[in-house]
Amino acid sequence: MKSADSLELAHNITTIDTGYCRPGFDASHLIVEGSQAALVDVGTSHSVVRILKVLQDKGIARQDVRYVMVTHVHLDHAGGAGALLQHLPEAQLVVHPRGAPHMIDPARLIAGATAVYGEERFNRLYGEIVPVAGERVIEAADQSAVDLNGRSLLLLDTPGHARHHYCIWDAASRGIFSGDTFGLSYREFDTRRGPFIFPTTTPVQFDPIAMHASIDRLLSFNPERMYLTHYGCVEDVPRLAAQLHRMIEVFVGLARDAADRGQRRHEALVTALRDILLNELQLHACRWPEQRIIELLAMDIELNAQGLAIWADKQRGDDRP
Ligand SMILES: [Zn+2]
Repeated sequence: MKSADSLELAHNITTIDTGYCRPGFDASHLIVEGSQAALVDVGTSHSVVRILKVLQDKGIARQDVRYVMVTHVHLDHAGGAGALLQHLPEAQLVVHPRGAPHMIDPARLIAGATAVYGEERFNRLYGEIVPVAGERVIEAADQSAVDLNGRSLLLLDTPGHARHHYCIWDAASRGIFSGDTFGLSYREFDTRRGPFIFPTTTPVQFDPIAMHASIDRLLSFNPERMYLTHYGCVEDVPRLAAQLHRMIEVFVGLARDAADRGQRRHEALVTALRDILLNELQLHACRWPEQRIIELLAMDIELNAQGLAIWADKQRGDDRP
């Protein structure tokens, strides 16, 4: 089945478009093993209807969804988990131990995002954040496995994008559900050279050293493919990993260069990120007009600029005696 909202892949995996922001931006992944199913990342509360619709279209009963797995608790991945769980009576929420308290009591997630977006925009983007009952929460320890009807899903603590982030090694597909640890890759930028990828440095826990290490840890499984939340399945993993390693250093260099720009730092970072990504995409033989590329990347550039500035400030703090 192929529709605007979902794409069926091999190994009983489906990419579902959560509808967040724009088509092809934010994915939920459905894994089916016999009579059981799991979802990896679920978008926002506004995504619930779409996910339930895909389950219905595939003839998957709601009680057969056993796990809702959120790679980390950023709202475009986990914001809809509580609302979705209200419709999935047998499902447990699998979440990183550092993220679990925020799913049970989302007050801080809501306050943080409301501070960034304002109340009106927050509601439009995320809707109501529904708390998850503590007894439905499984805290995912590093190296623990979720058993989906005999299919083992191995959880890997992978900081770098966020300290509350895990990735999932699925031996059955030789794939990894990478959340945001293995960067962002939009299908609009696929060319004859393959997919284009770049790291996300979103506030407030970007940590380049940890991100390099996490990428290497993922590669140690020799994955044949990655299932990205932003967006979908990519192969050619070693090349993409090399590109991520390289661009992490480029981005960190930008943050260092912009450190003395004072009030104009954010603007300087936005411009520098935009220019680098436009240049990289040109080298990648991307044929989209510049304006279209800038539209597609505007939100990521904005968030990356904010996250790099926060990272740079922390470095300065760390250097103080
Ligand atoms: Zn994130």
